[in-house]
Amino acid sequence: MKHTDKPTAATTLNRNDLIVIAGAGGFIAGALTRHFHDQGFTRIRAIDKKPLPQWYQRVEGVESLCLDLSDEANCRKACEGAAEVYNLAADMGGMGFIERFRIECLRSILINTHMIESAWRAGAQRYFFSSSACAYNTILQERADAAALKESDAYPAMAERGYGWEKLMSEMFCQEYWAERGLKTFIARFHNVYGPWGTWDGGREKAPAAICRKVIEARDNGAGEITIWGDGSQARSFMYIDDCLKGIDWIMHCEKLVATPINLGSHEMVSINRLVSIVEGIAGVKLQRKYDLGAPKGVAGRNSDNRFIRQVLGWEPDTTLEKGLRATYAWIEQQYLARKAGRPTVS
Ligand code: NAD
Repeated sequence: MKHTDKPTAATTLNRNDLIVIAGAGGFIAGALTRHFHDQGFTRIRAIDKKPLPQWYQRVEGVESLCLDLSDEANCRKACEGAAEVYNLAADMGGMGFIERFRIECLRSILINTHMIESAWRAGAQRYFFSSSACAYNTILQERADAAALKESDAYPAMAERGYGWEKLMSEMFCQEYWAERGLKTFIARFHNVYGPWGTWDGGREKAPAAICRKVIEARDNGAGEITIWGDGSQARSFMYIDDCLKGIDWIMHCEKLVATPINLGSHEMVSINRLVSIVEGIAGVKLQRKYDLGAPKGVAGRNSDNRFIRQVLGWEPDTTLEKGLRATYAWIEQQYLARKAGRPTVS
C-alpha cells in the first residue's frame, strides 16, 4: 500500500467540516492543529485549559478556546457541531511527573469520560483517543532487553500506576461507545513522542528534550558534565512528531481500526546512555556523566512491536532518532537562547 492510498481527514471530510482538537495548547495537539490547518480545513476548534498566551502554538484562523475539559458542560460546548473529535488533553509529563502526580494523572479520566459522551451526543462521525505505552503490563518491561510490546500485552492488566490505568480505562470507554452506541472510536498507544514545540523544561519534559537541554546548558556554562536519571541503561524508543501526526490521521480514518488499540511508536530502541551519546554528537561535546540513581526512571525496557501497524497501514514511524534529534536540538537551543535573552519561550 502506498502512503497516498490511505484515507485521511483530507480525503474523508469536507474542508468546512468541524474538527475539534482537545489539548491544543500542548505539544502534540498543537502540532495536529497546524497539520489540519495546513491542509486547508477552515473550521478547526482548538481547546486547552491553559490561558491562550501559554499555548505552545497558536494557529491563525483557528477558533482557540480556553476551557477546562474535566467539566462536562465545557465538553458539550467543545463538541457542538463536530464532525471529528481528537482528544489529546491530559495532565501529563515525563517520568518525573507521572511518578509523582498519580492523582492528577488519574483525574484525566474525567476529560475522556465527558469528551466521548459529548462527541457522541453531538453526532460526531469519529473520535480519537491518545493512549500510551504506559497502558501495557509493567511486568513485561522489567528488563532493558524486554521484548517489544504488542497490542495484546495490555492484558492481563498491570499498567503503570496512575497514568497507565487512566489510559487503559479510557480505552475501554472508547471500545464500549463503539459496541453499545455505534460511535467510531480510534485508539493509538503512543510511545514517547518528541520534537520541536514540545515541553523542554519545568518538570514535565521527557527524556529527549531533557537531555538536549542539559547538553545545551553544559555547553553554555562550560560545566563539562551531565546528570542522568538512573544508571542510563533504561531502554526506550522515541517517535518523531511528524510520524505521530501522520499516524494519527491514518489511524483515525482506517475502518479496520475502529475501537482497536494500536501501537504508534518507533521500533528503534536505545538506552538513555546511547541517547546522550547521540545528543553529544550533535552538539559536538563529550561530557562527564553523573548518575542520579534515586531519580525516577520508569520501567527498565520498553519498545513498540510494529507488526500490527505495518500489517494494517503498510507503514510504521520511520524518522531516525539521529534526524529527529537534530531538529529537536536546534529548536531547544533557540528556546534556550531566547530565554537567556529575556524573550518568551514555550516552557
Ligand atoms: P502536553 O502536556 O504537551 O499536552 C496536553 C495538554 O492537555 C496540555 O496543554 C494541557 O494543558 C491540556 N490539558 C490538561 N488537562 C486539561 C483539561 N482539564 N482541559 C483542557 N485541557 C487540558 O502533552 P503531549 O505530549 O502533547 O500529549 C498529548 C496526549 O498524548 C496526552 O493524552 C498524552 O497522555 C498522550 N501521550 C503523549 C506521549 C508523549 O510522549 N508526549 C506519550 C504517550 C501518550
